[in-house]
Amino acid sequence: DRAADALSRLVRDIPDFPEPGVVFKDITPLLADPTGFADVVAGLASPGRDRDGQVVVDKVIGMEARGFILAAPVALALGVGFVPVRKAGKLPHATYDVAYELEYGEAVLELHQDALAPGDRVLLVDDVLATGGTARATADLVARCGATTTGFAVLMELGFLDGRAALGDVPLTALLTV
Ligand code: IMP
Repeated sequence: DRAADALSRLVRDIPDFPEPGVVFKDITPLLADPTGFADVVAGLASPGRDRDGQVVVDKVIGMEARGFILAAPVALALGVGFVPVRKAGKLPHATYDVAYELEYGEAVLELHQDALAPGDRVLLVDDVLATGGTARATADLVARCGATTTGFAVLMELGFLDGRAALGDVPLTALLTV
């Protein structure tokens, strides 16, 4: 389909970034291509609608930083609000915090306590699903607000890392699996 085709053409592999042995998926050529960008935004928004086209989410969350770029147009396409999940110390109002494992060490993500209402249905959007740690941690923050993560949408799933296993019952939409 068009989104998978855009991803194959416009995402490049950068070997040894940000450290030796890692092959980084660089989405900047995709973002610079308005047709490709529009095609992937449409694909990421699709789990936010049911078969009849009715919007079935109340908020779209993007995870810092590339998730912001993708989740904001997805939220507008669905006609719902955008909510940022940020790294520690960036959000100005009262937050919920969650610590999660990185390959080396630990990181903290934060969500404004009043960003979601109890019962809200939330779609999480990011560029890449690797180990699933970021997605799992974000779903934990959503639950702290009494809201529900109803879907997780990414451009690319790194299949060999099995991040899908970290998501439990939350359905994953990956526009491309590599
Ligand atoms: P995870 O928590 O291991 O699933 O890693 C996913 C997070 O790391 C996402 O927020 C991605 O933006 C980022 N990430 C991991 N690998 C890549 C990559 O190859 N390209 C771009 N982002 C990546």
